[in-house]
Amino acid sequence: MNSPRAALEAAQHHPDYDDVSSLPNVTVDLRYGTKHNLLHKDVYGGFQRALLHREAAAKFRIASRLLGERHPDFRFVVYDALRPQAAQIEFYQLVRGTPREHYFADPSKGSIHSFGFAIDLGLLANGRGEVDMGTHFDELDELSEPQKENEMLVSGRLRQEQLDNRLLLRRVMQEAGFLQLPHEWWHYDALPPAEVRARYKRLD
Ligand SMILES: [Zn+2]
Repeated sequence: MNSPRAALEAAQHHPDYDDVSSLPNVTVDLRYGTKHNLLHKDVYGGFQRALLHREAAAKFRIASRLLGERHPDFRFVVYDALRPQAAQIEFYQLVRGTPREHYFADPSKGSIHSFGFAIDLGLLANGRGEVDMGTHFDELDELSEPQKENEMLVSGRLRQEQLDNRLLLRRVMQEAGFLQLPHEWWHYDALPPAEVRARYKRLD
């Protein structure tokens, strides 16, 4: 199996994948290509291009256009996109036997990121940096879960303004055809996971 970086570089030149890094309102900050992530390890060897399967990329271009039309003061910041299976295995080895183990997809099943159909992203406000979503990317806490937002709002852990920021992102992504799963505000799938696993090939 290739290293994660070699797999990503091969995907960059493969017709199944598109690079969405250069859209006018997109900033790429792939955290697994830096040490700024919950594993404190640069798993992608510095790779900083956001790749998606071309069908997911087509939807993301729509999202980019919608954001530009409705919220020209905001940009997307992409934290993760296509993630090779080699990286998924490395993540799992780093967390196996620790309390974080259950947050990571079992590598034998694989992640929708490894098919190029998932994207992790937040928002940047022009001149004001990262938009406050209540937690940071990859903060493994119930406060990150869309399914608990009402509960978190009532208990005061999530503020209305933070929820409004999540909803701004969510409306744009959902209108472009993405699905928000219940556990992470930053994670969107371009198709239902079962369909992705049945119809497409995983990047090793
Ligand atoms: Zn994700």
